Amino acid sequence: MGLSRSISDLLNNLDGEQAGLKMHQLMTELYPLCRSITGDGVRQSLHIICQHIPLKIQEVPTGTQVFDWEVPKEWNIRDAYVKNAAGKKVIDFQESSLHIVNYSVPVHKKVCLPELKNHLFSLPDHPDWIPYQKSYFNNTWGFCLQHRKLLDLEDGEYEVFIDTSLEPGHLTYGEYFIQGESEDEILISCHCCHPSLCNDNLSGMVVTAFLGKYLSSLPLRYSYRFLFIPSTIGSVTWMALNKNHLQKIKHGLVVACVGDPGHPTYKKSRSGRAEIDHAVEHILKYSEEPYTIFDFSPFGYDERQYSSPGINLPVGSLTRTSYGRFPEYHTSADNLDFVRSIYLADSLKKYIAVFDVLENNQILFNCQPFGEPQLGKRGLSGAFGGSKDAKLIETALLWVLNFADGEHTLLDIAEKASLPFSIIKEAALALIQVNLLREHAEKSNPMHT
Ligand code: ZN
Repeated sequence: MGLSRSISDLLNNLDGEQAGLKMHQLMTELYPLCRSITGDGVRQSLHIICQHIPLKIQEVPTGTQVFDWEVPKEWNIRDAYVKNAAGKKVIDFQESSLHIVNYSVPVHKKVCLPELKNHLFSLPDHPDWIPYQKSYFNNTWGFCLQHRKLLDLEDGEYEVFIDTSLEPGHLTYGEYFIQGESEDEILISCHCCHPSLCNDNLSGMVVTAFLGKYLSSLPLRYSYRFLFIPSTIGSVTWMALNKNHLQKIKHGLVVACVGDPGHPTYKKSRSGRAEIDHAVEHILKYSEEPYTIFDFSPFGYDERQYSSPGINLPVGSLTRTSYGRFPEYHTSADNLDFVRSIYLADSLKKYIAVFDVLENNQILFNCQPFGEPQLGKRGLSGAFGGSKDAKLIETALLWVLNFADGEHTLLDIAEKASLPFSIIKEAALALIQVNLLREHAEKSNPMHT
C-alpha cells in the first residue's frame, strides 16, 4: 500500500470532544465492576467492550502451563462485609469494589478488633481514600478502608463475611484483530484486571477500544492486534499460546494511564532504537507541550513481559503520568473525576498520530535524481497556498527529493529537515502525483544501474 491520507484524515476530522465524552461514558459503565485477573468481572467488562468492537473472548483453563507460570484458579465475588456488634455494616463491598482485598478467600466468622485489624489496609496519609490491595497467590483475606473509618472502629466483636469462590475455572481475555494489507502487525495491549480504578486500568481499556473502533473502517497497511488482558499473567498466557505468531509483531504499545491531567510520557522499547520509539518521540516533539521520555526498565506494565529477553518485541508504552507516579495511583481517588474526557481524547489522538507515522514511514525513490528537478514546470512552485504549512511543504519538497535515495525513510527525512512528519508526507504525496517520486524500486532506477 502506498502513502495514504486515511489516518491523517481521521485525525483531522475527529471530534475530540465527542470522542472524549463517549470514552468517559464507557469508563463510567465499566467502573463499578469488580475486575481481577480472572472471573466474571473481567467477562462482564469484555462484554461491554464488545458493544464497541467485536472482541474474540478467549477462556484459558486453570492449571494451563504458560512459560514459567500456571493459569491460577478463578476468583469470583458475590458479596463481602464487616458488621459490628450492633449488626451495622462498617465495611461494605457493595459500596466499592476496592473494599475487598482482591482474591480474598471465602470467610464467615466472628473476630475481635485486634484480629480484624490484622486484615485491614488503609492510608494514614490520605485518610479519606480507600487503597487497592490484591493477594493473588497467598490464600488470605482482607478489607481496605478509609483510614478515618478504621480509627472509628470500637473494641468488640465483628462479623466478617466474604462470599467468594476460588476454584478451577478460566483466565479470560479479549482480542480484536484488524486485517491490514500486510501480515505484519502492530500490537496494542491494555490490562483489564483492576477493580474500580480509572486511570490505571479503565483509561487504557477505553482508549484501546476506541482506537480499534476508529481504525476498523480504514484501509490499513499493517494489521492491528488489540489485547485486553489481565496484567502479567495475561500477557504471559497470550505469548505462551501464540509463541509462533510473535515474529509478526513489528511494533507495539502498551496503553495505560492515559486519562490524567499530567503531560505525556513515553517509555521506550527495550532496545530504545526501534521504529516505534522514533515515531512516538517525533509525535511528542511536535505536540507543542511538555513531555517526558524514559528508557526501558523491567518494571511497570506488560511492556516488561513483551520485552523479556526471550521475546524481545519492539514494544513501548505511551502514557500520561506513568505508573506509580501520581498520588491517586492504586487508591479510590483514581476515580471518574480524576480521569477527564479531554485527556482521554488527547491520548487517543496521539496514538492515532503515531499510527499515521508507522503506516506511512516508507522508503521512496527520486525519479529525477540528476540535479534538482524543475518544480515550476510541474506546478509545484507556490502550489500549496499561502498558509504556514504551505511554506513548510514547499521546503519539504527539496528535503524529500534529496533524501528519497532508497536509504532514508520519510521519518528519517522529517528528522533531518526538522519538520513534522505530516508536512513531509504531504510533500511526498505531491511529488508522487507529478511522478517525481515513486514508491517502489523495482523499475530501473538511474541511481542504481
Ligand atoms: Zn495497577
